Amino acid sequence: MSTDAPLMKDPDSHANPPVDGSELIRFDTVTKRFGSNTVLDRLDFSVESGKHVTLIGPSGSGKTTILRLLMTLTQPDEGTITVGGEKLFPAPEKQVRELRKNIGMVFQQFNLFPNMSALRNITEAPVTVLGLSKEEAEQRARELLELVGLADKWDARPTQLSGGQQQRVAIARALAMRPQVLLLDEVTSALDPELVAGVLDLLRDIARTTDITMLCVTHEMNFARDISDQVLMFDSGRIIEAGPPERIFSEPEQERTREFLSAVL
Ligand code: ADP
Repeated sequence: MSTDAPLMKDPDSHANPPVDGSELIRFDTVTKRFGSNTVLDRLDFSVESGKHVTLIGPSGSGKTTILRLLMTLTQPDEGTITVGGEKLFPAPEKQVRELRKNIGMVFQQFNLFPNMSALRNITEAPVTVLGLSKEEAEQRARELLELVGLADKWDARPTQLSGGQQQRVAIARALAMRPQVLLLDEVTSALDPELVAGVLDLLRDIARTTDITMLCVTHEMNFARDISDQVLMFDSGRIIEAGPPERIFSEPEQERTREFLSAVL
């Protein structure tokens, strides 16, 4: 399967930070609270351009909140977040809008527009946000539907598709924006077991054949081991251990990581 054409960067569509292994995402002493619950506690970490980073750890440890902060679906209480050297938080709204165009997210529950066809789900944002013509957006969408194995389903509504097919459309929708960063939030956890492998194989292909930076929250440890350059282990809103997957999964240093892995592996 060739992914080059639909995923090729379009340098004129919006400002893309450089793809050269330099630091792309940076969290500096980011704190996020919900009421008295401190969900992220003075968190520092960075992700280099083109790398695949997996966030693991027990439920409620703050992993999804990190992805939601990058999508600007929620805001930190303290700290700074930068993308490509420019502030995402705190920052003026115009700058946030521009930086956000570089970031795509795939959600656990697909979140497709229910009243739109698969094709329209994919073309909507490129037309309204990037200003592509309808023809350009449709051509890109058809290439992406081909990539995710759903070329013949272009006219189907989400309710006419299986969970696995809906998630493929959601992946195509995120890629249609040609994001530099793809955020994946437990994208297979709402799927029937027999549909999980196909979606993970598609994501493996995307990881292998593109230069998209990926931040991935998952309980699929084999997948994490396959695609990750780095694994971050979270507990109570802090990173308690970080390293390459071979080390984290085989020789974790922290007792908490060992406990977590023995529960999920
Ligand atoms: P994880 O992804 O590691 O399971 P989350 O980032 O989803 O963890 O959640 C971390 C904590 O933040 C949890 O205690 C969760 O209940 C809380 N939380 C997340 N979103 C909200 C919200 N919108 N309002 C209140 N609490 C929230």
